[in-house]
Formats: sequence, structure tokens, C-alpha cells
Amino acid sequence: MIIKPRGTSDILPKDSPVWQKIEETARDTARIYGYGEIRFPTFESTELFARGVGDTTDVVQKEMYTFNDKDGRSMTLRPEGTACVVRSVIENGLSGEAMPLKLYYFTSCFRYEKPAAGRYREFYQFGTELFGAETPASDAQVISLADTLLKRLNIVSELKINSIGCKGCRPKYREALVSYFKSYESDLCETCRGRLQTNPMRILDCKSPICRGIAENAPKVTDYLCPDCASHLENTKSLLDGMGIKYEVDPGIVRGLDYYTKTVFEFIAPIDRDSKTGEIKRLTICAGGRYDGLVEEIGGPRLPGIGFAAGMDRLVAALRFSGEDVPVGDTPLVYIAPLGDKAAAAAQKLVYDLRQKGVYAECDIVGRSLKSQMKYADKTGAGYTVIIGDNEIETGRAILKNMKTSEQDEVEINKLDIILSKEGR
Ligand code: ATP
Ligand code: MG
Repeated sequence: MIIKPRGTSDILPKDSPVWQKIEETARDTARIYGYGEIRFPTFESTELFARGVGDTTDVVQKEMYTFNDKDGRSMTLRPEGTACVVRSVIENGLSGEAMPLKLYYFTSCFRYEKPAAGRYREFYQFGTELFGAETPASDAQVISLADTLLKRLNIVSELKINSIGCKGCRPKYREALVSYFKSYESDLCETCRGRLQTNPMRILDCKSPICRGIAENAPKVTDYLCPDCASHLENTKSLLDGMGIKYEVDPGIVRGLDYYTKTVFEFIAPIDRDSKTGEIKRLTICAGGRYDGLVEEIGGPRLPGIGFAAGMDRLVAALRFSGEDVPVGDTPLVYIAPLGDKAAAAAQKLVYDLRQKGVYAECDIVGRSLKSQMKYADKTGAGYTVIIGDNEIETGRAILKNMKTSEQDEVEINKLDIILSKEGR
């Protein structure tokens, strides 16, 4: 038997309604915030991610699916969406349009990670990016978009925000971090010893308990912000306060990608309970931040930006865990059961006509007996059934049975769609 690659998933019809609900809510939330949809390729030049995500990040160093195409060019399956959107904005000249430019996307991402609950090798994101505004107001709006989406989904989450400074103030903070972590160098995990040279801020994001413990007393970025970054954070906070959006400032939030500047944020929610220990597993379901240097880094004009990506797989898990009623698949409004050959053809035509009018209707195509058709109709959850035999075809009238109440009515067959729509479904 051929099985799917580790860390990938099949999303089956029984699970799709939850995904669709999240997708529809995300799409509608993007709409009311004035975002347009963008779609981009599944693979891009490796260089895009090396430059856009940052070649000192875990994503680029360890997690990318990179291959040479038949012409020997290095290609990579997208590990995230932002670099792709930025490439597309530059290539298509969107940076010349009226600002702000607001874009959203649904995309799959590929990262060679160790699979676990909420962590896959192919996963899905809903992402948004806003270009051409540097104000705290734009930060507050982007955060409020994510907040609105989660509230509309009834997912209770915790918002953490931070500022990781800019090109001006970060070098000083970096120095402070390096000198702090140097004194614990031998205790750090191997990856973090490397990070000490290349990207010390990333140590704060390490998942190993020992590194986490050491990081707890590390210098706090918020003590090193320049006046501009500090007031940007304060103003963003007061706008969030004004909107009644609750948050906590957490100087430990640094984000995994290199391109962030100033505001970064994460929404954290419970997604699972450990079946053995009973411990509740909480994960970041949505994360983002400002990236004022990224467009230039990828070869475009100076164009500030801010965005976030929500992990769809984790939103699905959070929604399920929240105990909210999760949507199930639709059921047929009516099942037409023919009796005899002539009626079978008439049932096909009737179902066709109903479907033309937008009614979810089914009839037999397996060749079942009437008895097993009725059993099947019941199993599908059909709201009504209609049995059609020679007599019904002749008179143009048939019995419409309500499957819930067992009430029966004689109705005109060619008015079935009107009658059914009156039934309020
Ligand atoms: P983490 O710290 O959990 O590894 P990250 O910093 O790598 O996350 P981002 O690159 O910011 O995550 O991606 C944004 C969101 O995408 C995350 O908050 C998460 O919801 C989701 N995500 C990231 N990696 C995975 C994965 N391997 N499987 C499922 N969802 C993921
Ligand atoms: Mg990661």
C-alpha cells in the first residue's frame, strides 16, 4: 500500500465543512477590511526565501523543500506566503498603486519539521499583508483583523504583542543579548550556540526547556527600543485599548522569520488535550508583524508592510477543541425514489430540474430496490422523499413525505421546487 508522506494530511469530506467555515469566515473578514485576494506559485526560486525569510532562520537552514529543476535551477516549495506576496507585488508593479495595498491569501506551506499535534510538513495558512502604511493605526487595524476573525469563529485566544525594534536600535539589543547568553554558552542547545553567532534573538524562540529557562532572564528588547520604536509600540497599544482588544506585552515574542521590525504579535489558543496527562496544549494559531525593510530586501522600492498568517490546521483544531458546534456536511433536501424503469428516467429528469433550480436533490443511480432506497435516503439525512411510479407519472401528482415528522402530502410533481422552498430550507 502506498501511504502519504509523513507530516501531510488528507482532509476528508467529513472534515471539510469545518475548513470551509473557517475559509468563508476568513474570506468575509478580509472583505470587510478591504483586502483583495492574491494567489501565487507553489514553488519559487530558492533565493527568494533565502533573502526574504532570512538565511539564518530555522526555516531556511533546516526546513525547506529545495530541489533542482531539470534545468538545474534551485527551486523551493514555499515555506510561507509573505516573501511570495512581496515578490509578486514588486514583479507586478502593485507598489505603484494607491496605498495602502491590502492583500490576503490562502496557501499551503511546506516545511521539513518534526511532525506533532499542530505541526505538519504540509500545512495551510490564511495570511494578510498590508503595504504602504507605517502608522500605529495600520498595526492596530491588522491586529484587529485577526482579532475579528477569531471572535467571529468563537475561538477564545490570548494576544501577545511586542516590538523588536528597528535597524537603529536592534544592534544595541543584539550586543546585550550576546553578552548575556555568552555566559551560558555551554548550557545552550547546539542550535542556540550557532544562533549566538548568527541570530541571537532567535534563542528567545527556542523550544528546548533549558534554553527557555536561560532566556527567561535575558535582557528585554523593550528596554532597548529607540524613542521612535517605543512610541510606536505605545501608540499601537493605546489604539488596541480604544478598540477594547485585550493583549499582553511579552518581550519574549520575537517571531521565527528574519524580516520583522517593530510590532510583532501572536494569538495563542488551546488546541488539544494530552490523552495521558490531561494537560492542555496551547499553540500559536496566528502570528505576524511589521516588515518595513522586506520589500527593499527583495529588490523593490522602499515600502513598509505588516501582516500575519493564521495556521488553518491549528484554527481547525482550536475550533474543535473549543467545544463549539462544528458544521457538518449538507444533507439532501429531497430524495426521489423511482419504482420501475419508466419512473427511473422520470426521476433522473426531475432531479436534474430541481438541481437546475438550486435544490440539493438525489435519486437512485445504484439500482437499489425501493426498500433499500428508502433506507439509503434515511441514511443520507434527506429532509423529504418522493416515490414516483407509473401512476404518479400519469397523474403528475405524488406523495411528499417529511422524513422527520412522517407527515405526508399529495403534491404536484412539477411544483416540487416551489413547495420545497416554501418548506423553508
Ligand atoms: P512555530 O513557532 O509554531 O514553529 P512559526 O514561527 O514557525 O511557528 P510562522 O512562520 O510565523 O510560524 O507561521 C505562522 C503560523 O503558521 C503559525 O502561527 C502557525 O499557526 C502556523 N504554522 C507554522 N508552522 C506550522 C507547521 N509546521 N504546521 C502547522 N502550522 C504551522
Ligand atoms: Mg516554526
